[in-house]
Amino acid sequence: MRRIERMGEPSEWTAYIKRNPNAQYRDLDKDEEGITVRKILREHLVRSQYYLCAYCCRRIEPSGEDSLNEHIKPQGIARYSRYSMCYDNIVASCNRQENQPTCSAKKKNDYDEKRFVSPLQEDCEEHFAFAPNGEIMGTTEKGDYTCNLLGLNSYVLKEARKATYKTAADYHDENLVKEVYLMPHEGRLAPFADMIKYFYDRGYFAENT
Ligand SMILES: [Zn+2]
Repeated sequence: MRRIERMGEPSEWTAYIKRNPNAQYRDLDKDEEGITVRKILREHLVRSQYYLCAYCCRRIEPSGEDSLNEHIKPQGIARYSRYSMCYDNIVASCNRQENQPTCSAKKKNDYDEKRFVSPLQEDCEEHFAFAPNGEIMGTTEKGDYTCNLLGLNSYVLKEARKATYKTAADYHDENLVKEVYLMPHEGRLAPFADMIKYFYDRGYFAENT
């Protein structure tokens, strides 16, 4: 998981809430205006996340087939309904149809506020560690809980992280790894930049010779 530093909310979102102060997120698909503002929000979030899923850090595109507006405090739980239009409660998640669901599709309405690590919290990266075999694990109980809740060790994700690590390690050039994986290019970060940063910070890509 990569810490997300946010831009302010889109002005269209602010204006919509002003015009519809009692709107719930689920109401947005009832008319054109709602559908449009929902799409604007999704595109804005995907951009602000450098085209990476807020949870697994896979590549996401702004289209509705590939990404979705994910409510950290689930909108399906009544006590959280007042957060359903709250910008600070929404991130962009991947939206893949896979045998082992991950991220928003895995989390659904299962959520323990006291244990969940949010990508918006300052210390979020400290809760996770990676292994070269593609595994992600918690360094804390909260980290473990969050990995399990989001299915971050699904077969597809583990294999993709393993392959990404191998490609980066095969460069045998720490500076090149930094340039390719840890710098945005045309507004995009490389998939699994969170994992690459973890290894980079610990000297995994430095040559010993
Ligand atoms: Zn994801």
